[in-house]
Parts: sequence; C-alpha cells; structure tokens
Amino acid sequence: MKFNTKTIHGGQKPDKAYGAVMPPIYQTSTFAQSTPGGHKGYEYARTHNPTRTALENALASLENGNYGLAFGSGLAAIDAVMKLLKSGDEVISTNDLYGGTYRLFTKIFENYGIKFHFIGMENAANIEAYINENTKLIWTETPTNPMMNIIDIEATVAIAKKHNIMLAVDNTFATPYLQCPLDFGADIVMHSATKYIGGHSDLVMGALIVKDKEIADKLYFIQNASGAICGPMDSFLALRGIKTLHVRMQRHCENGKAIAEYLAAHPNVEKVYWPGFENHPNHDIAKKQMDDFGGMISFVAKGNDYDQAIKIVENLKVFTLAESLGGVESLAGHPASMTHASIPKAAREKTGVVDALIRLSVGIEDVDDLIEDLAQALSI
Ligand SMILES: *Cc1c(COP(=O)(O)O)cnc(C)c1O
Repeated sequence: MKFNTKTIHGGQKPDKAYGAVMPPIYQTSTFAQSTPGGHKGYEYARTHNPTRTALENALASLENGNYGLAFGSGLAAIDAVMKLLKSGDEVISTNDLYGGTYRLFTKIFENYGIKFHFIGMENAANIEAYINENTKLIWTETPTNPMMNIIDIEATVAIAKKHNIMLAVDNTFATPYLQCPLDFGADIVMHSATKYIGGHSDLVMGALIVKDKEIADKLYFIQNASGAICGPMDSFLALRGIKTLHVRMQRHCENGKAIAEYLAAHPNVEKVYWPGFENHPNHDIAKKQMDDFGGMISFVAKGNDYDQAIKIVENLKVFTLAESLGGVESLAGHPASMTHASIPKAAREKTGVVDALIRLSVGIEDVDDLIEDLAQALSI
C-alpha cells in the first residue's frame, strides 16, 4: 500500500460491532468478563482500549513498523523509552533537541544514574568517540528543533549496529510522509503526535513505533506498568488527523518552500535555516532520506537583536504566537524564551539558538496571506 492510501486505510478495518467506518470512541475504563479471564481481548483500559488499538495499528502502518504505542504526550513516550534503561547506562543524544526532552533527560533521568552525552551529530562519525561498554541508546532528532540540522539516519544506524546500541529517532518534524527511520534500520521511532500527526492543535499525545517484537514487548510492559496512556477521545482525534496527513504535509512543504525562499531574499533577514536550501550544510543527506523538506523554518532578522525579534513575533497577525507546531494554522515561536527556555543560555547558544532566533511552523493557509503577514511584521 502506498503512503497516501495508508493514511486512510493503514491498520484500519471497519468496527466489528456495527461496521462503523471510523473506530468508535470506547469511552470506558473496563470491559465485562463472562468468567474470570473470559473477555474479548480487552480487560482494563490502561492496558488496552479498542480506539487506542486502532490508532496504534495506524501508527505502525504509517512508519512501516510492526508495533505502535500511543501515550499521553510526546514526553510520556520518551519517558517510556528511557525506562528501557537502568542506572549506570549511558545515552548519546543530539545537542540540538526539543527543550522538554533535554529537561526530561537532565532533570529526571540523570537523577536515576543514567548518563547523557549531548553532542553535535551533523557528522555521524562524531558519535563513535562517546561510545563505551555502558552506552545503550543513541537519541536523535532530524530535522532538529529548532536549528533544522539534519542527521544522517543511515550512517547513525551503521554506528549503532556496529556497537549493538539501540537507536531512537524523534520523527516529529519530518513525519512518516517525509521519512521513515525504521526503513533505514532505526530501532524506535518517536512522535509528539501533538504536532503533525494530530495536525489540528487539538490534542497532546505521543507515539512510539518499532519493528522488533522484543523491544515492543518491553515497551508495552512499560506503557501498562507506568500508565502514561492517551484516552479514547484523543485516540479518535489523532486517527481523524492521520486521514489527511499526506495532503496536509504536501501543502506544509509547498508553503514552507515559498516562505523559506521569501525570507532568504528579504533585506531584513540575516539567516534562514531550512534543509531545502542547497547551501544547508546537510542538504544532500536531507535529499537522501527525506521526500521533501517540510514546513518548519527558523530565521534570524538583521541585527540579531532580542527586542526586535520579540517585536516581529508580536506584529504577526496570521501567524499566531504560540508554542507547538505542525497544526493546520501557522504558528511563530521565540525558542529562547519559549520552547527552549529550559536549556541554559550557554548550551542553547552553542547550538545556534540565539536570543533573536524565530521559529515558524508554516501552516496550510494561502501562502500569499502568510507572505503578506511576514512582510508587514518584518517592515519594522
Ligand atoms: C513537542 C515535541 C516533543 C514533546 O512532545 P509533547 O507532546 O509536547 O510532550 C518532543 N519532540 C519534539 C521534536 C517536539 O516538537
């Protein structure tokens, strides 16, 4: 099945009870049993819920995995991955990553004796120097948030396999429309389904997708044992969002390209970060592993000035100043004070997240209105 069909039918069958085409919202905490243990596959809704199962099957299908798991948030999904580890284990993570992931690693899991190395992974060969016998996991994001760095999944897989280390890829920015890390040999794909998967800024959710049964079984155990699941209503909304993922992504990419090019040519713009540019340092890798370049763009206005950046984001009218990304509506953010405020300034600036950086999540509105909005906001 091709991707554009999988978004609509992947892992989906009409509901067994009445043939409902959309999976019903099984808003129940428990399921009747005829005799102890005599049930129809569902006992208690933390463990399983039919609406969540439908979503988990759809997620597995989209990412070319065998198993999908849905969680109450992206961070809950990452939390579950970290619980595969134990005290003394080490993780090598990209240094340019979602601020909340950095916070979870450093403020929670370091307390449990897990050691993290945050390194630049634009050149995958950098990873090797940090590997020792305790290294159990490589954590990557590509494109990275918010610097739009590209990490070579295939090259990272080769290093992980050579040393028998698990590789997890946060695929939130790319979505399976643009890249499927499991196809390159990654072990775990993670999503903040809050973003493009849901696509309508109406839910908070996380997802993990894997191929390997042994890893899947461990993650299902953690999902049930720790309990950070998503509810049936949110599962339904995510399923509904997935149905249009391919058409939304197509427009996100078209609008993203037009806006990246507009900003690059703008006299008040100093730097634009978008992997579709030929002069992006890892453009060739982006071309190799992604089908298009997405709708996430970061830029710095001329002067690299904090107050000016704040004024620009305040001036935007069609773009909404807000946290998050990946919805149908265009959003603008100021990473240094918003999404990445939890990363210390020195660590942040080392990766390029300067005080004047602005991040855009380009929506699927008419691109002329978006460009007009940027034009007026930048004319200060
Ligand atoms: C938002 C985000 C997360 C965290 O997901 P939540 O659903 O907000 O918990 C993780 N990674 C990336 C790249 C994100 O954008």
